[in-house]
Amino acid sequence: MHIEIATLFPEMCEAVLSESIVGRARRAGKISLHCRQIREYTLDKHRRVDDTPYGGGMGMVMQCEPIYNCYKAVCQELGTKPHTIYMSPKGRIFDQKRAVELSGMDNILIICGHYEGVDQRVIDKIVDEELSIGDYVLTGGELPAMVVADTVARMCEGVLSDEVCFTDESIYSGLLEYPQYTRPEVWEGEAVPPVLLSGHHKNIENWRHEQSLKLTAERRPDLLAKYNAENK
Ligand code: SAM
Repeated sequence: MHIEIATLFPEMCEAVLSESIVGRARRAGKISLHCRQIREYTLDKHRRVDDTPYGGGMGMVMQCEPIYNCYKAVCQELGTKPHTIYMSPKGRIFDQKRAVELSGMDNILIICGHYEGVDQRVIDKIVDEELSIGDYVLTGGELPAMVVADTVARMCEGVLSDEVCFTDESIYSGLLEYPQYTRPEVWEGEAVPPVLLSGHHKNIENWRHEQSLKLTAERRPDLLAKYNAENK
């Protein structure tokens, strides 16, 4: 899979997405990811990419032309049109289900807005979907783009050591994950639940499932209702 991120702050995305599991996966060629500077695609001699909003109001709006030129360059380099996402608080809420679907695509282009957002005309022309990472407003689309890129990348083949790493997890499994413990066996007088030291795989599995059900009932009754309906 190839992910392109179009942004005014490519260094910001690059710094995060070069580290840890995603960074390793990129270096190992399991996924490819490129952060592109939208400013490079402006024809303005001052490298301007924004202007004041028609109709008045606060802030600046990102102009169509640099984003459109950037999009055309991506299409030309890939030899195809990527699935194009605009990160926006007005978008559909991004979730694990959408991440799974996106991880099956060959090419994704994620556009990051800034300031007051992006001129609607370029959104209408090139964007396939708008995604939001939640009901709050950030200063720019970079953090949301990184959230989407990281979530999608970790589900691509070969990025994690085993598919179980993401299927047996909160949300994907339909429930919240059971509590996890590691060494030492006793810390500050608190012992690890004895069943986890028993070596009895079936009992451990049952305990974990019970814990998942309990935690999900307490914290996310909405998820539990969905899980119960799907597992009747
Ligand atoms: N004026 C816009 C509005 O009211 O919908 C908000 C613009 S916001 C300050 C600047 C940029 O941050 C947006 O264009 C978008 O790319 C990004 N952004 C902010 N909050 C977001 C969210 N919850 N999910 C995804 N992207 C977001």
